[in-house]
Order: sequence, then C-alpha cells, then structure tokens
Amino acid sequence: MADKRPVRVVILGGGFGGMYAALEFERILAEDDSIEVTLVNEDNFFLFTPMLHEVAASDLDPSTIVNPVRKLLRRVRFFNGRVEKVELAGRRVLAAHGGSEHSHELEYDHLVIALGSTTNFFGIPGLAKRALTMRSLADAITLRNRLIQHLEEADFECSIGSRKDLLTIVVAGAGFAGVETVAGINDFLREAIAHYPNLTEESLRVVLVDPVPEILPELGGRLGPGPPATPPTLSSPPSLARSRRAASSRTIGCEWPAGPACGQWATAPPFRIRLPAGRTPRPRSTPFGRERSWRETCTPRSAERT
Ligand SMILES: Cc1cc2nc3c(=O)[nH]c(=O)nc-3n(C[C@H](O)[C@H](O)[C@H](O)COP(=O)(O)OP(=O)(O)OC[C@H]3O[C@@H](n4cnc5c(N)ncnc54)[C@H](O)[C@@H]3O)c2cc1C
Repeated sequence: MADKRPVRVVILGGGFGGMYAALEFERILAEDDSIEVTLVNEDNFFLFTPMLHEVAASDLDPSTIVNPVRKLLRRVRFFNGRVEKVELAGRRVLAAHGGSEHSHELEYDHLVIALGSTTNFFGIPGLAKRALTMRSLADAITLRNRLIQHLEEADFECSIGSRKDLLTIVVAGAGFAGVETVAGINDFLREAIAHYPNLTEESLRVVLVDPVPEILPELGGRLGPGPPATPPTLSSPPSLARSRRAASSRTIGCEWPAGPACGQWATAPPFRIRLPAGRTPRPRSTPFGRERSWRETCTPRSAERT
C-alpha cells in the first residue's frame, strides 16, 4: 500500500527568506495536501527591517512595521518557538516553545534554513556588552530610549563634563542598516534637541563609520556615492568617517577621542572604538552544535548519511 503521509517541509526562520519561501509554498500548493509545510519562528510576526530605523527615530509606531504571521499564512502551518537544535541524521528540529520553554520535536523530510544573521563584533573585547545592535524590534526601541535618555541626561548641569560624550553618536557600517539608522538618528536628535533648553544642535555629533570609500555599496557607485564634496540638501547631515584597517587583524579600527560609540552600537564613555561593521551567519552555538555553523553543518545528503 502506498504511503499516504504528506511530505513534510520545515522552514526555519520567518524573516525575509523564510516568510517569502512560505508565501511561495502557499501560492503553489493551494489545495495540494500531499505536502505539509511548517514555518518555525521565534516571533509570531514578520518584521519589515527596512523601516526599523523609523521606530528608532520615533517616526513610526512599532506595530506599523510588523505583520502577524497567522494573518499572512493560511495553508502553511506556523510554530512559534525558538529553534534549539537540528538533528540532521534523525531529520528532527528541536524547538523551545511557550512560557516554560518546553521542547517540541518537529520532523521533516526537507528543511529550509533561513535563520538570518547576527551582528559580528569580531571578538573585540567589551564591544558586545557596551554597544547597541540594530536588528530586531526590541533593538530599535532600546536605541530610541537610549537616545532620549542621553538627551535628558545631557540637559542637566550634572552632565557638563560628559555632555560631549552623551551627544556623540557613532554608527558602524555604511550598508542599508547603518545608513538608514544614522539618518534616522540624525533627524530625530536634531528635531528633539530644540526642546531641551540647555542643549544646542551644534553640540550634537553624529558619525557614520565604515572602511569602504562609499556608502551603500550594494547600490553601486551611482546611487551609493561616497561622502559628497559639498554637503547634500540636509541642513545638518551626519559626517562620514573612514576607519582604517588594523594591520594585524581582521578588525577595522577607528579611534574616537571623545568617547562613546553608539549606533548599530552605543556605548558608555570613554571608549575607543574599533569598528567591525558587519554581520555573521547565525551563531555557531545554535542550533547546530557549538563548533559548527549552519554552513558547515549542512552537508550534502550523501555525507550526512555516513
Ligand atoms: C535596520 C535594517 C535596515 C535594513 N534595510 C534594508 C533595506 O533597505 N534593503 C534591503 O535590501 N535590506 C535591508 N536590510 C537587510 C535585510 O533586513 C536582510 O538582508 C534580511 O532581513 C535578511 O533576511 P533573512 O531571512 O536572511 O533574515 P531575517 O530577515 O533576519 O530573518 C531571520 C528570522 O529568523 C528568526 N530566528 C533567528 N534565530 C531563530 C531561532 N533560533 N529560532 C527561531 N527563529 C529564529 C528571526 O527572528 C527572524 O525572524 C536591513 C536590515 C536592518 C537590520
């Protein structure tokens, strides 16, 4: 007798890659019940990251850039949980679920991995602890709160010695995330500072740092040119600083005399930043074992069976 069990496809991650894979399955499978597709994501919403900086800059309410997964998917099943482990040999995914974070096992015949990336700090001591990242909705809200906190603190006498530090923001990385973030921060701070009687716009310093000679290299030279010879139409644009590559390591270094680095990272002063500006595939720790990244782990099937 023929096996009637549907083919099980499990998609890990509900960001751009995973969600669009799921939507494509929705479209092509329609009424076909010979394939069962499950999307696993730690949040039950899809986050539109290109507008994340607008939440950080208080231009948008967080709810306007998220879309509930359950509204987007009808045919594809959804499992709200955090992927902890993938057992390639047993074709199983282990995911933590619910308030108690109890474990579930999801079996698959085919696995789609779309867990995204994390910020790469290149192992620079202290940076991960002191800087802010800009990747999730929580990150954007934290950054917004930090900016407001800095303004509030800087406005008072007690901060006279640290005012320059509090009002200096450095964003690392001139890709989409960095450029959009620095522009949002810049606009937000310059508008908000007018409401603080002891602060002036001149005391703000917003800097974008990157080792490459142009911003938004993804867009090519025409749309992503380097720092302009004459200031653009913005009345107070962020400045662009080129960092230098440290000769002895893969890190990209930049000395920042005034102190706090902020942005995709924000730190407390005094701090000499060495900016790695980048992201890396999901940590090697999860969900494929401590020493191996998903790239290393996803071997061809023939190798997997040995
Ligand atoms: C601020 C910002 C602005 C950007 N602007 C642009 C832009 O204008 N244009 C552009 O092209 N790109 C932009 N990008 C880049 C774009 O967001 C990424 O290229 C894209 O999100 C990558 O898609 P992905 O599916 O690989 O990962 P993601 O979209 O990050 O999706 C990964 C998903 O996996 C989930 N996940 C991760 N680990 C687990 C786990 N263990 N268990 C369960 N779920 C997990 C995450 O919650 C997330 O939902 C921007 C990024 C940022 C941060």
